[in-house]
Parts: sequence; structure tokens; C-alpha cells
Amino acid sequence: MRRQPGARSTRAPPSAGRLPMTAADTAPVPRPVPPAPARYVGRFAPSPTGPLHFGSLVAAAASWLEAQAHDGRWLLRIEDVDAPRCVPGAAADILATLDRFGFRWDGEVVYQSTRTAAYEAALEHLRSSEHAFPCGCTRAELAAAPLARDGSRRYPGTCRNGLAPGRGARAWRVRAEGVVRFEDGVQGWQEEDLARDCGDYVVRRADGLFAYQLAVVVDDAAAGVTHVVRGADLLDSTARQIHLHRLLGSAAPAHAHVPVATNAAGEKLSKQTHALALDPAAPAPALLAALAFLGQNPPPELARATPAEVWAWARMHWHLAGVPRQRHAPAPA
Ligand SMILES: [Zn+2]
Repeated sequence: MRRQPGARSTRAPPSAGRLPMTAADTAPVPRPVPPAPARYVGRFAPSPTGPLHFGSLVAAAASWLEAQAHDGRWLLRIEDVDAPRCVPGAAADILATLDRFGFRWDGEVVYQSTRTAAYEAALEHLRSSEHAFPCGCTRAELAAAPLARDGSRRYPGTCRNGLAPGRGARAWRVRAEGVVRFEDGVQGWQEEDLARDCGDYVVRRADGLFAYQLAVVVDDAAAGVTHVVRGADLLDSTARQIHLHRLLGSAAPAHAHVPVATNAAGEKLSKQTHALALDPAAPAPALLAALAFLGQNPPPELARATPAEVWAWARMHWHLAGVPRQRHAPAPA
């Protein structure tokens, strides 16, 4: 076994413990220490819109195992930026379920609802660099626009050269320009022409809330996240997020998008599709099902094991290359 569950590295900062130099110090002069390679920082970022379900367990397991395989840190963020969609108590419920299933995260949980000042500063940067512009269009006015790749309406550019006389700003949009290419760790090479496939996208909504795309990018940059492993329902958001990292001057993380679990009707598991909540009294069978979904072939006898035993097996056998290169797959019945 490479690591004990819950083990933490306690690396001191480079200067810690070094005594100040005095005149009595003699040679040899210490050679400069080369900078350490950037350490892997992964994260799991659920939205508190309901209890953790099988689909979110799959994403959590993949990102945690991949972080452990790189001896990395694994952070937890509650994505409650879209306050109207959040369910009271859901965040605490998700944390308790993750704990019961044996997940161990590093550091304090970050709540997006506490990060408004950072999002404000990022928007100000985008405004002052003229990458963001005010948009006065109503939802009804945009309803006739053609569909973008992710199924939303592609912005027709109405306000990108200034608001029409008498119109006020409702939302703020970023100019979608350029082509984004990246190699996804599961799905392979991706390419998106932002103007053609997406269009100018919202970073601050008409209701005053910051858009998910901006919040994710600002939070990942602030936390030093180097690798994002998440469900493939977010694959179509990735080009916008890489674009925002560029505009804000932060390093975009590497990405790997694992298949999304769907129900019998082919819909993504979510509260809206009545996904069953995970049973905290019986973690092992669900963990095994998640590992099987991720192409890791766990032995069936592990269904009677403790979560720690399942994770010990998973750490030994985890390989990202085993994850099916699919955007979605049916959840086990
Ligand atoms: Zn507009």
C-alpha cells in the first residue's frame, strides 16, 4: 500500500528550520535549491442541490483516486454560487455522506457563497481589460438565437459593441474569441471555436449572481488546483473556463472528464431525475459499483468489506486509462 487512508504529508516550507547565517558560518556555501515541481492539487466540487447520488460518487471517487495516485492534495468546495438552486442542509448532508464513505479531504471546505469579493475583483479585471461588456438583452429577446453546443442559446452579439440607447446593463458577458484546444485525460483531444460553438458568455447574471463559469475559474486559481477530474457533463464548459483562465492570467488546470451516470431514460442522474440518494449505512456496494462504472473491475467479494478496505484496493489498482472513453453510461440498476 502506498499510503495509509487519511495520511497527510507534512512538508515544511523550504526555509523552515534553517538557522540564520552568522559570521561564524564557514563554507561550503549551500547551493540554491531548485524549485520543487508543482504538486498535484485536485478537488471535488459538488453543488448542494440535494443529497449525494451515484453520479456524484463516481466523480468524487475518480478525482480522489487520481489525486492519491499522484501523491497530491484533494480539496473540497461546495458550489453554492447559484443560491436559488441550493437546498438548505444539503451541503452538510453531502459532507457527512462523503465522510461516511471514507473520503478524506485536505484543508478547509471552501463555500462559494463566501467568495463574492474574489468574483467581483475578477469581473472588474475583465471589465477594465474590455474582455467583458454589459448586455441588456432579455431572456425573451435571446430565445430566438441559435443553439450553442451545450444546448444553451448562442449569444447573437447584440450588445457587444455597446448598449443600444435607453437600455441598461442586465448581465455581463465575456467576448468569446479564439480557439481553445486541450487534451482531456479521458476523452482525448478537444477543440472549441468559442465564437462559433459557444458565443459571448455570461459571467454575471441578470439576477446579480456570478455565473458558474467565473466562480469555478476564480476558485480553482485561488486554490492552486492543477488537475480537474469531473463528470463529462462539464466537458462543454471547459473551453470557456480555459479561456477565462487566460483572460485572468491564471494557469488553467489539466482536465479529465469521466462518463456521467444516466438513468434508464438516458438522463443524467440528478435530483430532477429522481436519482436515489446513497445509503450511508452500506457504503461498500455503492463504492464497488462506482469503481466498476469507472472500469476498474473490483472483486465482488469486496462488497462485504469496510470502506477503508475498498479504498485500499482501489488505491492499489486505480488507473485512469481504464475509465471508459464515453460521455455517459447507464448507472447500475
Ligand atoms: Zn445583449
